[in-house]
Amino acid sequence: FFQDLEKLKDEPAETLDGFRVRLLTNTGLLADATPGLQRGAEGVGLYRSEIPFMIHESFPTEEEQLRIYKKVLAAYAPRPVSMRTLDIGGDKQLPYFDITEENPYLGWRGIRFTLDNTPLLVTQIRAMLRADIGNENLKLLVPMVSRVDEMAAFRRHVERAVESLQKEGCPVRMPAIGMMVEVPSAMLLLPKLAPYIDFVSIGSNDLTQYLLAVDRNNPRVSALFDHLHPAVLVALEHILQQCDDLHLPVSVCGEMASDPVAVLVMLAMGYRSLSLSAFNIPRIKLLIRSVNRTALLPLLQDARRLSHESDIRALFMPIVDAIL
Ligand code: PEP
Ligand code: MG
Repeated sequence: FFQDLEKLKDEPAETLDGFRVRLLTNTGLLADATPGLQRGAEGVGLYRSEIPFMIHESFPTEEEQLRIYKKVLAAYAPRPVSMRTLDIGGDKQLPYFDITEENPYLGWRGIRFTLDNTPLLVTQIRAMLRADIGNENLKLLVPMVSRVDEMAAFRRHVERAVESLQKEGCPVRMPAIGMMVEVPSAMLLLPKLAPYIDFVSIGSNDLTQYLLAVDRNNPRVSALFDHLHPAVLVALEHILQQCDDLHLPVSVCGEMASDPVAVLVMLAMGYRSLSLSAFNIPRIKLLIRSVNRTALLPLLQDARRLSHESDIRALFMPIVDAIL
């Protein structure tokens, strides 16, 4: 069975009735590049840059970051790589920089932290831009955006970094800039955010956490944490509609893209791009290649009327069981 899965590497992730999905991979480790490519990832949808920061002893310098990013971009070129700027805070801590807060998930996280530490942010952006020279496959991705001014400020920092690097004689180019939609306010402000972004990536882990007010790592409430919660599905349909209206490419990263039932739901909604761990790519590809999207549409209609995630799961589960 697993050997059969490996053979799918060069086959497209396309449903029986011709609906093509792009399968990208989530990574943060250079060691992941080989498995991602072996399993046919069409690029990196989420490079978690905090991972190299976490396994370092202090904030890595621009040159140290440059070396790491260059290897990742080169490994995947010409496939696109979305590099997310540092997303620490919440459950992600650096051994050499303590952030202790009473409500870490509502605190100094992601873009909030980096905009308050601009030398750090600018160093990282410069390293990414320089790593892109000769590869030309870099995209930037911003975590934990909850306000328009954050995206505006981020874009300004990138534009300035491009300008100053070019003045220094570095032939860098302006990359596409994407925004993680993982805070409900970002999802509700897409038309106002659109002028500052080129694409959207949905962080379903945090989006679920913030929509449902359920800590994604607290075992006491883990039964309440489910990305098939009807409110999450309403949110996903809203985001896709908005992105289509605004001509913004949209992809889903987060665990949802590895959950076969959720993948069927998103296929029916019309999502065409998913980013998941390399390990899960073959089985999700097999699933996509084994279904007719049109047969999923009435199930989605039924799912919209349901109020409990377990009923929604039960609706799609027989299809998954028949294939995987
Ligand atoms: C997410 O929140 O869904 C996501 C992909 O980002 P992370 O898990 O790194 O917070
Ligand atoms: Mg997140």
